[in-house]
Amino acid sequence: MRVILAQPRGFCAGVVRAIDIVERALEKFGAPVYVRHEIVHNQHVVNGLKAKGARFVDELDEVPAGAVTVFSAHGVPRAVVEDAKARKLPVLDATCPLVSKVHAQGKHYVNRGRTLVLIGHAGHPEVEGTMGQVQGPVHLVGAEEEVESLDLPTDTPIAYVTQTTLSVDDTKNIIAALKSRFSDVIGPDTADICYATQHRQSAVRDLCRVADVLLVVGAKNSSNSNRLREIGIEEGLPSYLLADGSELDPSWVRGVQTVGLTAGASAPEELVLGVIDALRRIADVEVVEMDGITEDIEFRLPAALRI
Ligand code: SF4
Repeated sequence: MRVILAQPRGFCAGVVRAIDIVERALEKFGAPVYVRHEIVHNQHVVNGLKAKGARFVDELDEVPAGAVTVFSAHGVPRAVVEDAKARKLPVLDATCPLVSKVHAQGKHYVNRGRTLVLIGHAGHPEVEGTMGQVQGPVHLVGAEEEVESLDLPTDTPIAYVTQTTLSVDDTKNIIAALKSRFSDVIGPDTADICYATQHRQSAVRDLCRVADVLLVVGAKNSSNSNRLREIGIEEGLPSYLLADGSELDPSWVRGVQTVGLTAGASAPEELVLGVIDALRRIADVEVVEMDGITEDIEFRLPAALRI
């Protein structure tokens, strides 16, 4: 069996920074450090940080007075920032700078009197954070068909922003539907789909041309990992999302010559290696890596953690 690895795959700069913030906070301030929500959507990462002394909470009222508190990479609503301020909690913000950029764009458009449409998936923490960062109503659209049901006059001045981890094509279609229904629609020059999402999605499309089956390593609640699997399906490949090697079902790869393997932006490389080990228990495996973009983006840590 040939296993072809997508390039790039796995950790993005926002995830590396978020994990780094928790680890450095533990080193600098000592355990426990409180983290609101999963720092990134990956149980292995969360468990690793728990073992080092991080405590994950759903809401700030579970954080004791004065305890170091980290906001997750997905961002938080303004009410949470204000609540932390009121409680004088020392906060380290691990919101990915690309998510913060979307918050800033949304605020900018609303301040200019536009009605904001957020293209994203209901219930995702990034979407809740973005909706809660912007003052005034935000209309959430998750699919092209939902544009029709927006209860707004067609001459409403609209601005859109998007969740960072959607599929490039879905976003493109929703933006086109907005432009066809409303007469005055503006948005950022390029959609807010982040560089890491775009790179991983185009690498998967390339991978699908040479593979018979697609395996995506990532958590069930990881938006960008789900999009990678959907791209595999769009490209006509049986495509599976698995958290790690233990979830590999041998029937997925029975009789298959070429397996395409990638990982979402919050999945560590060790989990990819674990899937290769699981494949090795089924067949003789030759591993090759596709040519692709090498990423060298790094995001700065918060000032309190810089050496
Ligand atoms: S996927 Fe993109 S937006 Fe999300 S954390 Fe990574 S770099 Fe930031």
